Amino acid sequence: MNVIILGSGGCVSTPRACCNCRICTEARQKGFPYARTGCSLFIEEGNILIDTPEDINASLNNSSIQKVEHIFYSHCDPDHTMGMRVIEQLKMDWLACSVGKKPDDPIEVASLPAILEDIKKQGTKYGSAIEYYEARGLVYTKGIRVFKIGNILVELIPVDEQEHVAIFIIWRVSKYIEK
Ligand SMILES: [Zn+2]
Repeated sequence: MNVIILGSGGCVSTPRACCNCRICTEARQKGFPYARTGCSLFIEEGNILIDTPEDINASLNNSSIQKVEHIFYSHCDPDHTMGMRVIEQLKMDWLACSVGKKPDDPIEVASLPAILEDIKKQGTKYGSAIEYYEARGLVYTKGIRVFKIGNILVELIPVDEQEHVAIFIIWRVSKYIEK
């Protein structure tokens, strides 16, 4: 099982625009891994992306990710979610969309039910961004606590009582345990 750390820069990416400190200057000159993008993970088995910070498109390109089939969210803070427009990069065919065609392989967007409700509140003056993508068939949403694909089990464990923050426990399940 490979888990790739796509970004580990925290809530502010490195280099910060317009900053000429030593760290940012070096990151600008040398690129990755001195340059660090927003926090996100990728589980290769199942093509699972965890969180979408603003620079997630650059992170996915940097790690040469070929396919995203699931997006799981840890919580709705902006530095983990504001890159959700990457769904358009991954799935939107504007010409097909203009004639009402939907992709036949939408991305699953999932989290604990309370977090999913939080995520659905994010959007623009046009309304919920995720519901916009759902209406165009780019994604479907699902409240989950455990996710199993192949031998990979992903458990979403709530951190707070209201279940608005989840941590992920990623297991490789043996055949013995499966029985
Ligand atoms: Zn700096």
